[in-house]
Amino acid sequence: MKIGSPKELFAGEARVAMTPDSATQLKKLGYDCLVESGAGLAAGFTDDAYRAAGVEVVDSAAALWERADVIAKVRPPEPSEVERLTPAKTLISFFYPAQSKDLLEQSSRTGASVIAMDMVPRISRAQKMDALSSMANIAGYRAVIEAGSNFGRFFTGQITAAGKVPPAKVLVIGAGVAGLAAIGTATALGAVTYAFDVRPEVAEQIESMGANFVYLDFEEQQQDGAATGGYAAPSSPEFREAQLKKFRELAPDIDIVITTALIPGRDAPVLWTKDMVEAMKPGSVIVDLAAERGGNCELTVKDERVVSPNGVTIVGYTDFPSRMASQSSSLYATNIRHMMTDLTPAKDGKIVHNMSDDVIRGATVAHEGAITYPPPPPTVK
Ligand code: NAD
Repeated sequence: MKIGSPKELFAGEARVAMTPDSATQLKKLGYDCLVESGAGLAAGFTDDAYRAAGVEVVDSAAALWERADVIAKVRPPEPSEVERLTPAKTLISFFYPAQSKDLLEQSSRTGASVIAMDMVPRISRAQKMDALSSMANIAGYRAVIEAGSNFGRFFTGQITAAGKVPPAKVLVIGAGVAGLAAIGTATALGAVTYAFDVRPEVAEQIESMGANFVYLDFEEQQQDGAATGGYAAPSSPEFREAQLKKFRELAPDIDIVITTALIPGRDAPVLWTKDMVEAMKPGSVIVDLAAERGGNCELTVKDERVVSPNGVTIVGYTDFPSRMASQSSSLYATNIRHMMTDLTPAKDGKIVHNMSDDVIRGATVAHEGAITYPPPPPTVK
């Protein structure tokens, strides 16, 4: 069978789902590899680099979709791309089925199999395919770099002949995958880092990375917003008040705030309010990684960088992984390659769509003309 990756259609998207390295591995699984001409250029992979890895470079998206049996891409397909699917084809991409009902119906009507990389179950065996974590890790790192490029001072403290420089104080709100990456990056750059999460179990992780866990003066402590399954639940009004009170105390002293707080299936909770922005020093920076879902900061403008009247920069970009397209393409392409390994048990270049496999079943949102989302819960951890 042939596996191919087209150029992404989404404006500004620089990632690509197949790299020369991942193609080398896909060939070992028995697949012939195709790529649309120019698909990897924005991520630093030239057509010649693909050719050197034994990939056939095809001239047009139409030819790629026509010839490939498996299409691997990054962003959910455009309706014009779905039209190119047939019952014999398999599409692998981010899909977000809960937010893409029409696209899902259109895709299932084609009879193709659709594997959503955002639906890979978060069980140990599937970590190598966990593209959400790969991208969140990059977003967390990039958020700190973006903060640094908008901040007029060092992160690390220094004693120089020209004077003593205090370290920057960074607060990370939400310590999931992106938050932990941000904590690691800010700490490595020498900042004094503080972090808060509603899930008490992350306190130890935060402290082991050299950051300070922010404890609340609340009788149930951080337990309130914690839920089962490792994800957060909405907080009670009392807990939220205690959280906002603590943030108000911290605001005048913090130089950089990175927010990553999300609750599955809901808008992002507003945790950094207008009055907190107003209490921050001029030159401070907020990077809101929750901007896509409404933002954790009240003043965030999605996809924009704005400066408040008191001189605080608020970054609401939603394309952090694409801003590091070479790194994110490499990791995403590796996640895809691992998915293909599980889909190709005999390494003979033929997909076996085993719907009794928890990972394949969990990620498959359309198969044989039916919508297969949502999946049943996985049977193993
Ligand atoms: P996420 O992106 O859904 O949320 C980010 C963080 O925001 C979470 O840590 C959450 O607790 C926090 N949050 C929510 N509301 C908040 C509030 N009001 N104040 C402060 N923080 C708030 O999280 P994620 O990165 O997808 O990780 C979620 C869970 O999944 C974690 O337990 C993580 O360890 C787990 N996980 C498991 C695997 C695996 O087993 N393969 C892989 C990745 C993540």
